[in-house]
Amino acid sequence: MSSVDTTIQLIRAGKAEGTVCTPDLAEGPWVFDRQIEPSYGPGSSMGDIIPAGSPRQGQLPEEYRTASTQQLADRIHAAKQTLGERVVVLCHFYQRDEVVQFADFVGDSFQLANAARSTPAAEAIVFCGVHFMAETADILAGPPQSVILPNLAAGCSMADMADIDSVEECWQQLADLYGSAPDAQGRVPVIPVTYMNSSAALKGFCGDHGGIVCTSSNAATVLAWAFERGQRVLFFPDQHLGRNTAKAMGVPLERMPMWNPRKPLGGNSDVALADARVILWHGFCSVHKRFTVGQIATARAEFPEVTVLVHPECPMEVVDAADAAGSTDFIGKTIAAATDPTTFAIGTEINMVNRLAAQYPQHTIFSLDPVVCPCSTMYRIHPGYLAWVLEALVRGVVLNQITVPEPVAARARIALERMLAAQPGASTASADVIGD
Ligand code: SF4
Repeated sequence: MSSVDTTIQLIRAGKAEGTVCTPDLAEGPWVFDRQIEPSYGPGSSMGDIIPAGSPRQGQLPEEYRTASTQQLADRIHAAKQTLGERVVVLCHFYQRDEVVQFADFVGDSFQLANAARSTPAAEAIVFCGVHFMAETADILAGPPQSVILPNLAAGCSMADMADIDSVEECWQQLADLYGSAPDAQGRVPVIPVTYMNSSAALKGFCGDHGGIVCTSSNAATVLAWAFERGQRVLFFPDQHLGRNTAKAMGVPLERMPMWNPRKPLGGNSDVALADARVILWHGFCSVHKRFTVGQIATARAEFPEVTVLVHPECPMEVVDAADAAGSTDFIGKTIAAATDPTTFAIGTEINMVNRLAAQYPQHTIFSLDPVVCPCSTMYRIHPGYLAWVLEALVRGVVLNQITVPEPVAARARIALERMLAAQPGASTASADVIGD
């Protein structure tokens, strides 16, 4: 079987030296639930600082920690069979195969939130992804449905890089600088745009302030929507998606200052901010930050015909050096559409790359990064946690429910609905206007 568990077996056999970012991946995630000083745990985000107060996961009961892989699989199958249509299991593309095998739907965060909405018969939605995804599912789910995150410590280091207090402080500083008066075209000084990978509080903030949500699939459409209504955009939390998208639309780099929330005016001068078209929050995904131009050069040297596909959360230099950049959906569809045997080097999370390689044996598909380093927080969802929450549901007990307070959810829905209504090409904000 591919995915992280193959790596875990290699680590345990002493055959993984130099091929993984940390041997700690061989530990059960519950080892890290017990940490007095919480961290994101092994994987790409292990060097990131987790905010104080991040959700913690209590200790998983011993019977789930000590059960074999087969025992857990049998228990999950049995619980799902008993629950029938009362439960739906959603798995993100980046989830390990040992969990994905139990999925009713596999997709990106927005596809999964929509899958939750399209299964009203399910009383419980078990979301095998990370915290912000479960929040979005709860925002869009029907009122009687419970959204469950099997391990509460499955956050997202990128989403955590923009918190509501820091964004509100930034907003106040921008309001002091720009005022609130629209320009001659009726455009307000700033439109906030949040990536789907953000807390419900930030989606609600955008709903409140004339802003909008975007995904990696529709970021250009959403930016065009925002430029039609605002003189500039405050984009959070992922600087790379914001920069890559705006650059492709013709916004010059010098008009995209970065906002560091730990510095006054984000570390910028009044002049730089006055001229800004997109203010980029200082956030990033530690999975996609690992990809480099050097890795692309190595792949091209070894396979001169290689097609390099990367996610737009990768740094700009990597996106520029790739053959194409796009969302997980784009990467999957591009490979599915290739009729002749093709070599693909991919810049996205390793579980998805390994799954694509297994799914399309007629192609040669590999990760640009030679070191296996999965998303730290997706890794936290182990079959043991899935068995635990499903068997509790069989007993009528809802564990690890994710609930977004209705006032926040209502405001977040406004920003999400604006995104759904924004149509490609509907905006008159062309690249020329954007780069003015
Ligand atoms: S891959 Fe990156 S953005 Fe996605 S959940 Fe992991 S840390 Fe967050």
